[in-house]
Amino acid sequence: MPSVQAPIVHGLSAAEAARRLVADGPNELPAPRRTPTWRILAGQLTHLFALMLWVAAGLALAAGLAPLAVAIVVIIVLNGVFAFAQEYRADRAAERLRDLLPARVQVIRDGEVTSVDATQLVLDDLVVLSAGDRVSADLRLATVHALAVDESMLTGESVPVRPSSGKQVFAGTFVVQGEADAVVTAVAGNTRLAGIQSLTESAARPPSPLTVELHRLIRVIAVIAVAVGISLTVASMLLGLSVSKALLFGVGVMVALVPEGLLPTVTLSLARGAQRMAHGNALVRRLDAVETLGATSYVCTDKTGTLTMNQMEVLEVWTPSGSVTMKSHGYDPESTAEGDRAAIQATARAAASAIACIRGRAVRSKDRWVAEGDPMEVAVDVLARRLGVPPVDRATITHRVTFTSETRYSAVVVSGNTVVIGAPDALMPYCRTNGGPDATAAVDSLASRGRRVLAVAQASGVLVHDGQLELSADALELLAVVGLEDPPRTDVHAALAACRRAGVRIAVVTGDHAATAEVIAREVGLLGPDGLVVTGNELPDDDERLGELLDRDDGVVVARVTPEDKLRIARALRKRGHVVAMTGDGVNDAPALREADVGIAMGASGSDVARASADLVLLDDHFASIVTAIRLGRATFSNVRRFLTYHLADNVAELAPFVAWALTGSSIPLAIGVLQVLALDIGTDVLPALALGVERPGPNVLDGPARHHRLVDRALLVRAFGVLGLTEAVVAMTAFVVILSGHGWHFGAEPSGAALAVASGTAFAVIALMQMANALACRSERSTIFKVGFTTNRTLLLALAIELVLLAVFLGVPPVADLLGGGWPSAQGWLFAGMGVIALLLVDTSTKLLRRRGSRG
Ligand code: ADP
Ligand code: MG
Repeated sequence: MPSVQAPIVHGLSAAEAARRLVADGPNELPAPRRTPTWRILAGQLTHLFALMLWVAAGLALAAGLAPLAVAIVVIIVLNGVFAFAQEYRADRAAERLRDLLPARVQVIRDGEVTSVDATQLVLDDLVVLSAGDRVSADLRLATVHALAVDESMLTGESVPVRPSSGKQVFAGTFVVQGEADAVVTAVAGNTRLAGIQSLTESAARPPSPLTVELHRLIRVIAVIAVAVGISLTVASMLLGLSVSKALLFGVGVMVALVPEGLLPTVTLSLARGAQRMAHGNALVRRLDAVETLGATSYVCTDKTGTLTMNQMEVLEVWTPSGSVTMKSHGYDPESTAEGDRAAIQATARAAASAIACIRGRAVRSKDRWVAEGDPMEVAVDVLARRLGVPPVDRATITHRVTFTSETRYSAVVVSGNTVVIGAPDALMPYCRTNGGPDATAAVDSLASRGRRVLAVAQASGVLVHDGQLELSADALELLAVVGLEDPPRTDVHAALAACRRAGVRIAVVTGDHAATAEVIAREVGLLGPDGLVVTGNELPDDDERLGELLDRDDGVVVARVTPEDKLRIARALRKRGHVVAMTGDGVNDAPALREADVGIAMGASGSDVARASADLVLLDDHFASIVTAIRLGRATFSNVRRFLTYHLADNVAELAPFVAWALTGSSIPLAIGVLQVLALDIGTDVLPALALGVERPGPNVLDGPARHHRLVDRALLVRAFGVLGLTEAVVAMTAFVVILSGHGWHFGAEPSGAALAVASGTAFAVIALMQMANALACRSERSTIFKVGFTTNRTLLLALAIELVLLAVFLGVPPVADLLGGGWPSAQGWLFAGMGVIALLLVDTSTKLLRRRGSRG
């Protein structure tokens, strides 16, 4: 019979946990109630653009144009359904991405610490919390070591609380300091978080910067549309037109200017980008991080795990009694130590002390030994096993101080003695005779060979007070300096070369020893001959000088940094105009991750706290995945710009007839009607726009620096409206006037119905065909279509083929053509259309070539 006390120390048995899991179900929050489909759909029918179209339909009806009103309503509905489908797909994609990142929890079962999926927690499970963890269930604290918990997500209170033994901590909060053992008191829907979630379900998240910007663009367009629409209506009434005709113009202008389907297409493009990134092991937590990644110009990266494999092994140990070299590889505890007896004994003594400070260990899984927990700690655990050191009884540990990147050490009090392990430069100043000249030389020698160094020291008596280690001169005795190998990742080289080509600057920002970091940085090719190596305390205080110092393209190593240094580095580089991506894994990295434009957290190692404040999570911790994400970010960025340019250009062509008509006091008849505008916007334009949005990332996306920092900027608007749109408008209007004149019309006269139909059909065909050329032109912002090639986007070719068929239907099938108000063009009309295509490609090509020459000189 197990005693009543047994579960507290040993946790549940695995069998009991499994039974409870089946009985009570997994520890998952009930899925947040989704906004009902009809509400989303209704939303799509009532946003600003839709409302404008409703007004247009109302006006059309008032003007006695029932078919037009019906057509507009059909379009509102089609458009709404289309938008709904896009957003639905984007939402589902985002949901799938969230599922990719499981949360792990340390529990004690059968007396052994193991790591399980957070969904596997059951009532009465004994959980081990440490700094950086997200709390996955409601818990009652048992043993507590200087615990601090950030409850802001539940209470809004940003100062961490310090609960003592017997108190509760709640699911959804984060451990920011210390450690504790705690018993699960509520899981899943019974947690306080579940209760709160159902309250706040309806609370909307603040819109992202991209959404804000797009909405601004849309509002500007809407204001222009309404203003132009109203002035044209008034103008036409003053010109003596009937009210119904005047209203028709107003409606036409509004319809022409509304870029229907723009928002959902942007969302879908970003979601597509996010999905591609997930395949490259980079998970975005906010869709618009895809945009920011594309504009990234400076990456501050960790060393351990990102540039290196994070598979550590102790290769050398220095002790005051001599040095020991270890043989063998991996986590297998079978191995030999080489060195004299005294040195091996001293190493064993140091290892016996050190393992009290650590949690990570190597475990046997099937026939292999695998790391569980912090790889450096695992390496120390393996060292201890190799030397035959027995495990530490957890019950003899009375105090714990967890590792932070500020202090760079961790400590425990075990059986009345204090043991400290940490960075040598953090500990040796407090060691008797500072560790001695031999120790300093050992550290330098290990570091200059790229080894990670760890000092092990001890003191008799309790040096821990209130969760802090209190060190004074000569307080510690240095037991050993451990040299660990952490081999660089093999494919980092290529990724770094890609960054260099892309004009993205890089700094390694690490808590490690400067010499260690420098060797690794040179080895992977990050640091060139003109690179810079500094330590955190050498950084200038002034942000401007700091930014200037770090802004160089031959690589930067900043060693021995604190989280504050990271925050300042991000801020200084941003002030210099860089778009900064910053990685972080520690508890205290959250502020730096939030300060950076793109905060990047580690999915494999790293703390839950860092993940919660990141924009991007690297599933494999790999530096190359950052580069993949930047590449896809750039590709998505240009795709959105592609279809924005395409979509906005034809607005000019659609608006021109109305303006020409109004400015000439109706002397030039209306070249294309409202229904034709709709046929272009919602008919022929849609598929090519979508095809541009899925253009594959080209091989050259990483050649040269990021050119644009914003999705919609002056360059885009000038190109869309001033170059491409204007060309379309000029050719279409010229064709219209020439064809009309050919039928005997002269300026100011009333054309015959047949003449108007042919001329209008011609203008329509000209715009549609020129939009096809425009689609090709928009495939690249800088390269001419002759360089890009006509056939490399199959989807686009298919879209263009369908567009041709649609055009033939719109012009050639009698009922449709009659409704739209345009007839089949004459040979001369088609000639115009052909010339329009050539003109557009010529204008596009020459502006691109001119701009290139301008930027070269
Ligand atoms: P990195 O930038 O490589 O992630 P860290 O901040 O993790 O650097 O580590 C900096 C130094 O702190 C290491 O070189 C090591 O000496 C020491 N250190 C790292 N992890 C621990 C730990 N768990 N306990 C004690 N000391 C540690
Ligand atoms: Mg680290």
